[in-house]
Amino acid sequence: MKSTMMQVPLSTNQILERAGRYFGTSDVMGRRPDKSIYQRSYAEVYRRARQLAQALREKAGIAPGEAVATISWNHAWHLECYFGIPAAAAVLHTINLRLTPEEIAYIMVDAGDRLLIIDDVLLPVWEKVRPLLRQPPRVVVVPFGGAALPGGYESFEDFIADDAIAYQYPVQDENEAVGMCYTSGTTGRPKGVVYSHRSMMLHAITGCIPDIFGIAGRDKILVVTPMFHANAWALPFSALMVGADLILPGPHMGGDDLLELIERSQATIAVGVPTIWAMLLQSMEATVSTRPLALAKGFRMLVGGAPMPAVMIERFAKFGINVVHGWGMTETSPIGSFTIIKTKHDALPPEQQYALRAMQGVAAPFVDMRITNARSEEQPWDGVSTGEVQVRGPWISGSYHNAPDHDPEKFTADGWLRTGDIATINAEGYMRIVDRSKDLIKSGGEWISSIELENLALKHPAVAEAAVVAIAHPKWDERPLVIVVTRPGMELDGSTLRAFMAPHLARFQVPDDFEFVESIPRTATGKFLKNTLRDLYRHRQSITPG
Ligand code: AMP
Repeated sequence: MKSTMMQVPLSTNQILERAGRYFGTSDVMGRRPDKSIYQRSYAEVYRRARQLAQALREKAGIAPGEAVATISWNHAWHLECYFGIPAAAAVLHTINLRLTPEEIAYIMVDAGDRLLIIDDVLLPVWEKVRPLLRQPPRVVVVPFGGAALPGGYESFEDFIADDAIAYQYPVQDENEAVGMCYTSGTTGRPKGVVYSHRSMMLHAITGCIPDIFGIAGRDKILVVTPMFHANAWALPFSALMVGADLILPGPHMGGDDLLELIERSQATIAVGVPTIWAMLLQSMEATVSTRPLALAKGFRMLVGGAPMPAVMIERFAKFGINVVHGWGMTETSPIGSFTIIKTKHDALPPEQQYALRAMQGVAAPFVDMRITNARSEEQPWDGVSTGEVQVRGPWISGSYHNAPDHDPEKFTADGWLRTGDIATINAEGYMRIVDRSKDLIKSGGEWISSIELENLALKHPAVAEAAVVAIAHPKWDERPLVIVVTRPGMELDGSTLRAFMAPHLARFQVPDDFEFVESIPRTATGKFLKNTLRDLYRHRQSITPG
């Protein structure tokens, strides 16, 4: 039987229209590079996004399906690009501003970017990219820093100046591209993931489910996760769909800056990666010794992008803050799984509750998940057997841009995405990531989880940050090196930390190699740069006896 339902294509334009019509008084609060605060209502975002769409089509001649790039911090102009570029039926290509000029040049050519929208404060990045491009795109500059534009550049404000009251959205199929993001490219060249209107809208709706992000109209969402990484978890789309306010921190992501913004804006939700939250936690702990924190009632934090240690969840809980942990990737839009806490879990001892919250959780609705071993055999959901996490679903990438051939490293023959994450799944479906396959340490033929060692090291009161990578050993092949940043004013040495960790580990897992550093290098999205760390310590020999 054929359904009687209307065939209405899903589109980000529906969200833009909805925000303009119903939520004009909701707003973005943002911080500029000089730390001053600005506000912009959704009525203005609506008007300006449509003006941008019209300018892209009429002034720049952008055709449907062409890519328009952004190199921008999290701010109101970037939000206008999130809606204005798709409203022109073009493709929002958000570029990670911390990539090398060569990488940026490569992905701009690969994406076929016809126009670039870039922050004034990031023009030095562009000046290094431009000489590498044979056909540089037209450049439009966002006055985010506010200083006078250098000669020869076109301002965003001039570009979008004409009114667009009569602007008509081009009609589009819901499977057409709405945006694209390149994966971090830890192996080989960065790969383009292309999202559709349909995938983005289904994902944005899912983000509003209480057990996922739980975004509602009353929320004020601090989006620390970069808008150039996995669509900022599609939060801008979820927020404008329900009329939630957004708080966009610009380039200021230090702990004190974030705490100040959270208190000033009375944010109800903050979203980011664990390394950023580690800095916020330190600021909260330092502040509370001088005055009580002024957080909004029910303030909670969403975390993902890297493993969230149970001990950090516990330390946030001391402030009454609920930390909700999820897992995902650029290829998964990014929602893959979330840790759902049921009433029956309330009866668990606190230690077990934190351990549960530190798990990567249950697959989101519409996401199928399995773990398989090296022979592609599905592993049991017993909480012990490990395997590579594989997923499929309506917002999960089934290929890469400009890569028509089947890539067996990234996709299985039966059409699942290979994530490269190694995990267990328990009988209730809770997934726990043990490691990235390439970050596991193979010592004497036995696997050691870098995540497990990092979490354990973090339990020591003097440890602020810990990253573990493999270093060479003549007999055991690889041994773990624990790289530690100590908390301000605290002293720690390798043998003390070793003695602290040893009782919790099997003998072969106990690390012998420690390095104390001022800071650990991170990606633009706040994850430890394990490749850089491996390179840095490539020539170091482990001191473990043979
Ligand atoms: P990206 O595509 O840059 O967002 O990176 C995705 C990768 O980040 C995943 O394949 C995981 O290795 C890692 N990741 C994301 N979320 C989590 C999490 N909650 N716990 C552990 N690893 C995570």
